[in-house]
Amino acid sequence: MRKKIVAGNWKMNLTLAQGEQLINDILQAGLKLAEGQEVVVATPFPYLTKAKSLLKNYPGFFVAAQNCASEKSGAYTGEVSAEMLQSVGVDYVIIGHSERREYFQESNAILAKKIDLALAAGIKPIFCCGEPLEVRQAETQNAFVAKQLEESLFHLTEEQLKNVVIAYEPIWAIGTGLTASAAQAQDMHAFIRSQIANKFGREAALHLTILYGGSAKPGNAAELFSNPDVDGGLIGGASLVASDFVAIIQHLG
Ligand code: 13P
Repeated sequence: MRKKIVAGNWKMNLTLAQGEQLINDILQAGLKLAEGQEVVVATPFPYLTKAKSLLKNYPGFFVAAQNCASEKSGAYTGEVSAEMLQSVGVDYVIIGHSERREYFQESNAILAKKIDLALAAGIKPIFCCGEPLEVRQAETQNAFVAKQLEESLFHLTEEQLKNVVIAYEPIWAIGTGLTASAAQAQDMHAFIRSQIANKFGREAALHLTILYGGSAKPGNAAELFSNPDVDGGLIGGASLVASDFVAIIQHLG
């Protein structure tokens, strides 16, 4: 009843030729996606049109950008707007990845603006949330994530929320080889869903796709995805290896 998604976040990796090869290798696997299952590749900006043209005849395969501007248009040298992404056929956009929050000072308020612009342009945001290690150690992760949700998503209407995907990415698990245990992921996903239910109602919460991200790989995907509130994954490193990415998709069940 809600979408299951495996999304690959390439981050700042691969040349165009390598990216094309990776997409072709993924397609070669001949995956049969079940009803309601989606595969998303989040490529660097210059490869989005190529990725879209390679994937457009494959139902269930979509393209994402890794960021968009917090302004609509104008004198913002180097920025890429949500409307521009829409004009080249982009389906999703990752918003609020912890690397952007950390290295580019993206605040919850800035991310709220990006969410609004993406939705206005008809692009579905994949909104990332998740706590740093010290917050997890202090066992205050729920309050931390609740604030991220409140400040970037709670201004939306229930209708708008239908086009939002949430990705829970504990920062201590990203690129570290440390994965949240299945129980830690399930607990946080259930908490996120309860926060959404409190604000937007039970129906909205039941329809919300919540992805897990952070050192997800073929060896742990099955266990992570078997949790009732984990609806797929946002995959970094393992999405750069076609066989690993395909194996993770196959664990969607
Ligand atoms: P890794 O899978 O490399 O830990 O990265 C996760 C991530 O940040 C996806 O957005």
